[in-house]
Amino acid sequence: MIAPLQTLSLPALLLMLSFSAHAFDFGSVLGGGDDSGGGSNVFDIGEMISGVKDISRTITGIDEEDEIEIGRDAAAVLLGASKPVNDPELQRYVNRIGRWVVNQTDRAHLPWRFAVLRSNAVNAFATPGGNIFITDGLLDLLTSEAELAAVISHEVAHVIQKHHIKAMSSLNTSGLSGVIKLASATREGRSNQMTTQLVGEVKDMYLRGLDKGDEFEADSMGTVIASRAGYDPFALMAVLQTLDSIDPENSGLALLYKTHPPASDRLDKLEPVLEQFDEPAEESPMLQKRFNKYVGKHS
Ligand SMILES: [Zn+2]
Repeated sequence: MIAPLQTLSLPALLLMLSFSAHAFDFGSVLGGGDDSGGGSNVFDIGEMISGVKDISRTITGIDEEDEIEIGRDAAAVLLGASKPVNDPELQRYVNRIGRWVVNQTDRAHLPWRFAVLRSNAVNAFATPGGNIFITDGLLDLLTSEAELAAVISHEVAHVIQKHHIKAMSSLNTSGLSGVIKLASATREGRSNQMTTQLVGEVKDMYLRGLDKGDEFEADSMGTVIASRAGYDPFALMAVLQTLDSIDPENSGLALLYKTHPPASDRLDKLEPVLEQFDEPAEESPMLQKRFNKYVGKHS
């Protein structure tokens, strides 16, 4: 039965309209982009929540081309550790949500790619330039499309604010210029030594995690992005509450807690942001059905 249009939420309607025939291709995770991103919606969090966007923390001195190049290398490192789940329908679904979410930002033109990785670790990662990965360990804990969009939006916020470039710059002895040098060298034919250095720095960054302040910023900004996409802004809070309810000794959470502030701290920081919004909204039956179809089948 098809629900009357007025009962469908905004994301449901727009996803129905925007579902394209793009098949998700694992190889394309590392490839260039077909990039359908619109970019007409300018995202300005400052308009909605003052104080969330801290310009001083944003890295601006890197070309987008270099950023994308580093991201491609970082994605290769991550994909060397975990492989995408072999479920094209699920991958396509996650990509559609991801693309809809990034279209709410002013960096929709990046070659965004979204993939679910097979891993018991409960985690999600992003690389510069727009590769977003979510583990099936985390996916299995989510209960709605809004929660999935919340996780994706958090990662999208890291990319928009170039948090990874900032973290890599702090690891590189030459700072940002050292990172840019590695990226440029990639295009010009990099020596083995430079490849080893880049892979080492990337691994180090993912093991150490990002700056705590950047994690809180990604929570706040991600919440706003998800809400602009029409999703319940309280969904990230629900995900954090789920994580908070799991025994921290659980081995699946080890890397998450090593690289992120405790869920309870993140919930505290999110509280003032959520005060800007109305009460949590229930997911529309259509979105819930779609989430169950693609994600439920997988678990
Ligand atoms: Zn994060």
